[in-house]
Amino acid sequence: MPVFYECQRCTACCRWPGQVRLTELEITRIAAFRGLSEHDFIQQFTRLRADRQGLALMDKPNGECVFLEGGNCAVQAVKPQQCRDFPNLWNFPGFEQTCRAVPKLVAEEEYRRLLRVMTGRERGTT
Ligand code: SF4
Ligand code: SF4
Repeated sequence: MPVFYECQRCTACCRWPGQVRLTELEITRIAAFRGLSEHDFIQQFTRLRADRQGLALMDKPNGECVFLEGGNCAVQAVKPQQCRDFPNLWNFPGFEQTCRAVPKLVAEEEYRRLLRVMTGRERGTT
């Protein structure tokens, strides 16, 4: 049976170093959600990615994501796919030492349902 990691909203993944990549569609959605033009959103909340191939969310001076506010994601309803996909569709060796998501053995049909709900994506288990 597949393992589904149930996020506990501890926000560790919003605070560790790295970059949250943004697609053009995500820029459009998040800008609209914040009531900003795309130009203003890009100026205020994004930076060039390390590979210079696109944009990523800006960090606060303390390294947290710019949208982490009071222990919550300020753009939860439209947060980037990269955030939605962690840790079930991507993670890294040892992530469990920091991420508090609870691993649960679930039937394959339930796994696919949970993935759809959490990530918006369809994915088989093989
Ligand atoms: S956009 Fe939201 S979920 Fe993604 S890292 Fe920032 S605060 Fe966390
Ligand atoms: S995915 Fe993990 S690190 Fe991120 S908020 Fe959920 S439990 Fe915390």
